[in-house]
Amino acid sequence: MAASSVARVRSTPRSLRPCPVRSGAVRNRQNAGPVAEREQQGSVASGDPIEGSAVYPAGSRVNERGHLELAGCDVVELAEEMGTPAYLYAEDDLRARARAYREAFERRSEDFEVLFASKSLPCTAAYRLFAEEGLSVDVASGGELHMALRAGFDPDRIHMHGNNKSDEEILFAARSGIRHLILDSFDEIERCERLLDSPQRVLIRVTPGIKPSTHSYVQTGQLDSKFGFGLEDGLAARAIERVLASEQLELVGLHAHIGSQIFELEPYALAIRALGELAGDWCKVVNVGGGLGVAYTAEDEPPSIDAYVDVKVRGVAEVFGPDVRILVEPGRSLVANAGVTAYRVGTVKEIPGIRTYVAVDGGMSDNLRPMLYGSRYEALVADRAAAPPDTLVTIAGMHCESGDILVRDANLAEPAVGDVLVTPATGAYGHAMASNYNGVPRPPVVFCRDGEARVVVRRETYDDLTARDV
Ligand code: PLP
Repeated sequence: MAASSVARVRSTPRSLRPCPVRSGAVRNRQNAGPVAEREQQGSVASGDPIEGSAVYPAGSRVNERGHLELAGCDVVELAEEMGTPAYLYAEDDLRARARAYREAFERRSEDFEVLFASKSLPCTAAYRLFAEEGLSVDVASGGELHMALRAGFDPDRIHMHGNNKSDEEILFAARSGIRHLILDSFDEIERCERLLDSPQRVLIRVTPGIKPSTHSYVQTGQLDSKFGFGLEDGLAARAIERVLASEQLELVGLHAHIGSQIFELEPYALAIRALGELAGDWCKVVNVGGGLGVAYTAEDEPPSIDAYVDVKVRGVAEVFGPDVRILVEPGRSLVANAGVTAYRVGTVKEIPGIRTYVAVDGGMSDNLRPMLYGSRYEALVADRAAAPPDTLVTIAGMHCESGDILVRDANLAEPAVGDVLVTPATGAYGHAMASNYNGVPRPPVVFCRDGEARVVVRRETYDDLTARDV
């Protein structure tokens, strides 16, 4: 990362930045050489592998220069302007996904709430955008609550999770007037009773004993879980009894989130049926969690938002009747495919007969998912976005770990030092899980729309790395 790019981005934080190059701009390369030749191979004449891909943000395409274009912005030029790595989002795509959820509900239900699971993209601009789109929000810590409030979320639209909320977090939530505190343990029930001096609406988080096929780290609905109260072992029923007897806690409903990146719909129906065993007159709200899977690669074919909403609405109506309010809390399916990460290639190391490593200027500090879950991603040389991806390589990060591999087998169009390399579908849990490992400043978050790009979270600087020193 060039120091100058940090300074440039810092100098106009949060400003509206016109994209330096718009689609259709005349190309003027004085130093035409091998890279320019490769660029020409990537012209639209050879077809557009991006337009219509479910992995990239809606509206992405290969522009007349053969570059990847996102929301009307040329990604190669953006990388030059903003520096790399950078998280780039198509703002309209974020909004469209929120509307798809709302409209899918509006067609089927009169009493619903769609909550943005903000752990997937905790930045103020995202909270603000989803508030503008009429969503509610789920927060999983005092920090997320702070950001939601700062973004202007009505506290009555905020719902708080956490398997180990601190005294401070419980008090912060209650005093802010949030809608629901989602109770996760008997210790928390006692803690709330000790701390709260006025009634707080609560839901009880249930682990309904359903195990969807997804990575074990993101399965959360099975009995053996750190989250919530089990159904099979009777703890959920005991928790309900306990909270109904409480003066400070007003039990209004149930919650279950069975896991994430789920491609089947049946487990949701089973989970709702299981929750039904606990229903009573007090149950006016059923929060059926998030979990809808997304396409990280072209091979992934998740169900549509509409199909997902249909199963949940029908399930809740059948089991709990028509008068119960249904809540869902999607994270990944709102933001993952609306974002890409842009890197710069720094080295290409060929080990004859073994493999070629293409190293970029980020890695596990900006996208932990490949290392945490073995997640697979696609990659693209943004400079030659339509050129044949005929070189098999391994994309490595810049961190001091052999395991810092972003994509193990990627087919790229003759990657070279200086190229802008993009990994799509990194809009969820990338910025959220970013770290300063190896003293790397965290990347900016950039929202793109109609050919304009604005920095909504600036790049960290080296001074930020020492700012907390005392
Ligand atoms: N709700 C809860 C309680 C969660 O723990 C999560 C994710 O971890 C979500 C919602 C969002 O899930 P997803 O991003 O899979 O939609």
